[in-house]
Amino acid sequence: MSRIDGGGIALLLDLDDCIGCFGCEAACRETYRYPYHEDWMKVVRREPVVVDGELRQYHLVAPVLDKCRVCYEADPNPLCVTGCAAQALKIGPLAEIVPQAEGRHCAIFTA
Ligand code: SF4
Ligand code: SF4
Repeated sequence: MSRIDGGGIALLLDLDDCIGCFGCEAACRETYRYPYHEDWMKVVRREPVVVDGELRQYHLVAPVLDKCRVCYEADPNPLCVTGCAAQALKIGPLAEIVPQAEGRHCAIFTA
């Protein structure tokens, strides 16, 4: 039975917590051992910026969502999520993920 109840899955990155450590990128590669020229998950580190007088540094991730969907179906606790030391990455049904972004700076990817 599918773990997805309509609305698809979502992958959430909490921009306030992500430290750009590349852990999720390494975890995905370790899990699937895909060829080096492929990137199912890519961390994009960004330079610090001043926002409202405060210095902030937001990093991004770029997942290949078709892969994440299949991955989540096989294991609802993928290593990219469980291995994130900052607990900045979440995956799950869209309806469960969206409320977790409330009051936070987040990027939500849907598949
Ligand atoms: S999401 Fe987590 S594991 Fe990935 S770069 Fe950010 S802090 Fe590191
Ligand atoms: S959910 Fe699976 S396929 Fe997607 S980035 Fe994480 S480990 Fe890789």
